[in-house]
Amino acid sequence: MTTFTDSLLRLRGAFVSGKSQPVDFRINQLNALIQLLEENEVALLSVLYQDLHKCKFEAMIAEIDFVKNEAIYTLNNIRSWMEPEIVEKTYITRMDQCFIQKEPFGLVLIIAAWSHPIQLLLMPLIGAIAAGNCVVLKPSEVSVQTTALLSKLIPKYLDKECFAVFNGGPVETRKLLQFKFDYIFYTGNSIVGKLIMKAAAEHLTPVTLELGGKNPCYIDQSFHLESTAQRLAWGCFFNVGQCCVSPDYLLCSREVQDQLIPAIGQCLERFYGKDPRESPDYGRIGSDDHFKQLQQLLTSGRIVIGGESDSQDRYIAPTVLVDVQESDPVMQKEIFGPILPIINVNSMGEAIAFINKQQNPLAVYVFATNSKVVNEMLQKTSSGGFCSNDNLVQMILNTLPFGGIGYSGIGAYHGKFSFDTFSHKRACVLKSAGLEKLHSARYPPYTQQKLSWLLWATQVRKRDCSCCLL
Ligand code: NAD
Repeated sequence: MTTFTDSLLRLRGAFVSGKSQPVDFRINQLNALIQLLEENEVALLSVLYQDLHKCKFEAMIAEIDFVKNEAIYTLNNIRSWMEPEIVEKTYITRMDQCFIQKEPFGLVLIIAAWSHPIQLLLMPLIGAIAAGNCVVLKPSEVSVQTTALLSKLIPKYLDKECFAVFNGGPVETRKLLQFKFDYIFYTGNSIVGKLIMKAAAEHLTPVTLELGGKNPCYIDQSFHLESTAQRLAWGCFFNVGQCCVSPDYLLCSREVQDQLIPAIGQCLERFYGKDPRESPDYGRIGSDDHFKQLQQLLTSGRIVIGGESDSQDRYIAPTVLVDVQESDPVMQKEIFGPILPIINVNSMGEAIAFINKQQNPLAVYVFATNSKVVNEMLQKTSSGGFCSNDNLVQMILNTLPFGGIGYSGIGAYHGKFSFDTFSHKRACVLKSAGLEKLHSARYPPYTQQKLSWLLWATQVRKRDCSCCLL
């Protein structure tokens, strides 16, 4: 019987053999991943529905097609991304070939969360394959059915010597983390993120941490009522608010709040009908534990929309809370569910001060038709991503990096950023054995003349940068 350790050693052996590195191998594996998604679409939709009551629409745009597009984008660009990057030279290196070689790290561990169980497992996998790594995948034990299906399909489609799925919860993950990996990519909450980083530190393994946090959303008095209400009603309750980039709370004046609440209420009724529980488009909470935590948050402030819940069905209605104080339970940690508190502020300055008092979020949102307000929010806050007059959409473009800052994460991925994340940038200088005269200036005995020549030959010349000054 092969043990856990044997399997990991086999994967490492496959990397050492070089099997995962030729471009044709990488391309074949990416095509196989696309095939997996295409040939099993119905089954994947079914397990997503079983785990999260996820409707086809949301499953296609945020999971299956999302991942497929990333794989196609990667295939379209992989050869150019793999090219050595030629760098600028100084006089002394003029005769040399100086470039950055992108090489795989080796054996990579990808640990995923349950909220988008296909996307969060396979998106980083695409980058890891493209960069030529071998990979251990650890899907979330919470999304039971999706994890079971992916665990069956991945070895069927991908090369078994280079890619393997390991299942289990915290105990098994901790066991996995005792092994030395060459890179760890983790998606999940910040508390476990710290544990992952500690475990990685034991082996000095680099990490990417895709974490969460409380994403603020400021609604300025110049907001456009119809589009703001509609976009928020969609973004806050997409996947039942279980998106790391969902707006976590709104900041606005009482006047804005009074206009916005009835408008959001009308949008929700248009989207999900009078009883969202009956809507085929409204999902469910991912686990009983998470349901219980969310239910406790319903006591914060005053419910003005929704508030109904059913533990049997893990259902919580789209809910909006007002009269919320900073000290209320709902404001103490990321909500990650269909509960939207509103905190009243009297000005944009107050909103910015509030945001900057909290940990760096994954996203900052602002709804305003006044571009000065948008620019000021952009300049005076910091977050993984930023979006004005909309939400969630900053993460769908694979030409933008996706990741956090500070408490919301370390590193970024999607598109070329994924390839770069999983590639070590090796600094290379290829020299000829000749032209020794050129080098003689660096050898002792050192003289003032040699020093002057070397300083001239290695000098970085200053350019006029006045045009960069704002
Ligand atoms: P989860 O419970 O599925 O945990 C994530 C992974 O960590 C799982 O594979 C799990 O097995 C493992 N794990 C859990 N506890 C562990 C422990 N004690 N030791 C070692 N491993 C452990 O997911 P979650 O954390 O509930 O996910 C929700 C969080 O993830 C939210 O904070 C959300 O914002 C964040 N998230 C971030 C992103 C992003 O891309 N930045 C995307 C989705 C979710």
